[in-house]
Amino acid sequence: RMLKRQMLCRLDIDWLNAAFLAIYESLVPLEEETAKQKQFFMLLEKLVSKEWPEARLYLYGSCANSFGVSKSDIDVCLAIEDAEINKSEVLLKLADILQSDNFQNVQALTRARVPIVKLMEPVSGISCDICLNNVLAVVNTKLLRDYAQIDVRLRQLAFIVKHWAKSRGVNATYQGTLSSYAYVLMCIHFLQQRRPAILPCLQEMGTTYSIIVDDIQCAYFDQVEKLHGFGSRNKETIAQLVWAFFNYWAYRHDYANAVISVRTGSILSKREKDWTRRIGNDRHLICIEDPFEISHDLGRVVDKFSIKVLREEFERAADIMQYDPNPCVTLFEPY
Ligand code: ATP
Ligand code: MG
Repeated sequence: RMLKRQMLCRLDIDWLNAAFLAIYESLVPLEEETAKQKQFFMLLEKLVSKEWPEARLYLYGSCANSFGVSKSDIDVCLAIEDAEINKSEVLLKLADILQSDNFQNVQALTRARVPIVKLMEPVSGISCDICLNNVLAVVNTKLLRDYAQIDVRLRQLAFIVKHWAKSRGVNATYQGTLSSYAYVLMCIHFLQQRRPAILPCLQEMGTTYSIIVDDIQCAYFDQVEKLHGFGSRNKETIAQLVWAFFNYWAYRHDYANAVISVRTGSILSKREKDWTRRIGNDRHLICIEDPFEISHDLGRVVDKFSIKVLREEFERAADIMQYDPNPCVTLFEPY
């Protein structure tokens, strides 16, 4: 109880909150940058439609889900409905077209787990990855963007958490830590679980948007403009939420049994998901259910070494929020 009182006192201090908000503001991309990305995207659209008039181009990932910090790469998805296409051929052809249009560093990575074309735009220095027919990612991008419009604290919290994860080296799936997408889902889930709740569960509400992608029904309430003010009964500040977020992942989450689920706005058990043992490379040491591909655990990349790293980082962050005189600096110190 002593600790709790101590914490509430310090979190009442406005400066800590102001400092977190200042960090958030410094990470938000400038209008100018967003405009350049749009321009770049329109140029790509033009080139693509010449070769594939039926195809559509979508932005996804952080440049479209509103969780992109300044200078992020652009993720683009080329959607071609024709079932007969050969993916590698399309990507090689695309790389060809871009190369002859003076893009720099064009590379077709046709053997990667997710095959892509990588390129750089010489004037702005924008880097871009183009994948093929990854429409589920386009839809989950929309879900994240819709959540972000309900309460600004989601965007603030997620920016801080992503910034922390990048600074501390725990935002790399190839090293067994978590993707940005996973961290944003952790933030959404966390805000759904506050009391009073700061975010609703859109997939449990009446459907206003529905699409079937790769045999998966994606349906939820997307008229988020009607949900402005949803979380206003909860007065928690961003500093309090950052504290509580790290405290949850450091000391409260039940790693042995719990699965966090944005889809249901609740915690499920590993048992009901049948995520209790290792199958192949999926170890389920930290369980984050994908909102649409519900058999997909975003924590499956985490192994017995990286789970330790992750949990120690959560504990470090929670302890800094509790005791450090200047958490806004210490939290983000490079590892
Ligand atoms: P960053 O700012 O770090 O680039 P990002 O939002 O672009 O963040 P990434 O983790 O690079 O996040 O992923 C890009 C997009 O790809 C996500 O927004 C999501 O739509 C999709 N995605 C990434 N990982 C997965 C996954 N494991 N399962 C399903 N979709 C994923
Ligand atoms: Mg990205």
